[in-house]
Amino acid sequence: MTEKWFEIRDLHVQLESGREILKGLNLSIGAGEIHAIMGPNGSGKSTLAYTLMGHPGYVVTGGEVLFKGQNILELEPDERNRAGVFLAFQYPVAIPGVTVANFLRTALNARIKAEAAAQNGGITPSTVKGMPIPEFRKRLREAMAVLKVDDSFAGRYLNDGFSGGEKKRAEILQMAMLKPELAVLDETDSGLDIDALRIVSEGVMTLHERNPQMGVLVITHYQRLLNYIKPQFVHVLIDGRIVESGGPGLALELETRGYDWLREPEAGQ
Ligand code: ADP
Ligand code: MG
Repeated sequence: MTEKWFEIRDLHVQLESGREILKGLNLSIGAGEIHAIMGPNGSGKSTLAYTLMGHPGYVVTGGEVLFKGQNILELEPDERNRAGVFLAFQYPVAIPGVTVANFLRTALNARIKAEAAAQNGGITPSTVKGMPIPEFRKRLREAMAVLKVDDSFAGRYLNDGFSGGEKKRAEILQMAMLKPELAVLDETDSGLDIDALRIVSEGVMTLHERNPQMGVLVITHYQRLLNYIKPQFVHVLIDGRIVESGGPGLALELETRGYDWLREPEAGQ
């Protein structure tokens, strides 16, 4: 079997209660492709997102998630990040008294040190100090220019009166700084207003234009998100399995027809 760049193979996930939610989910993504997973409430979308993040409440009982041949389910969340997989909304931004710039610098340096440690038997050499400030500033300026973020944003305190849209902007900036190979976006928090959705989507599309090799997986129950993120592939998740895959037209079809036509008939019908 030829190996795909990113591949979810026969993934089974259950809750701590033992109830199985994902029942053999398969999905492949090639480098540079933009995919969306949609589905009705309760189908397992957030479960998939939390599983990819390594949330301890979701127990993998079978299957693999291979990224360039490596099963990322065996990695800690920060190792997944280092492997090149960025899970947006993975980092709850709740650090009072820290500016956006400092937060980004900490995230970047943490990765540099972790990378050095991985090459040195788990210990970060004392010579590794993280990114020099001038280089960091340059990278931050570039990222802010690409994402059209106002200069003053970097000096603001995280979470200090941030709107939902501003929190998302900080996350997308983080993504721009870390330059992931695969960006996984999930809408597990339903509190996103349209402004925040637009910021996230436009940011992702801009980063994808800049780096066309970046893969994107959007997990959403918001049809309207796809007004901004244009997936090349759309998948429908129902009852823990992908039941239909198609092109952008499938999202439009779901909009007019809903999901019922894709459900398996109940036993006896
Ligand atoms: P979706 O995001 O597609 O709406 P979820 O993955 O959130 O679906 O949920 C799938 C099913 O699993 C639902 O029936 C939901 O109630 C249940 N579920 C998910 N997470 C939990 C949890 N942490 N505790 C209890 N039930 C959960
Ligand atoms: Mg959900």
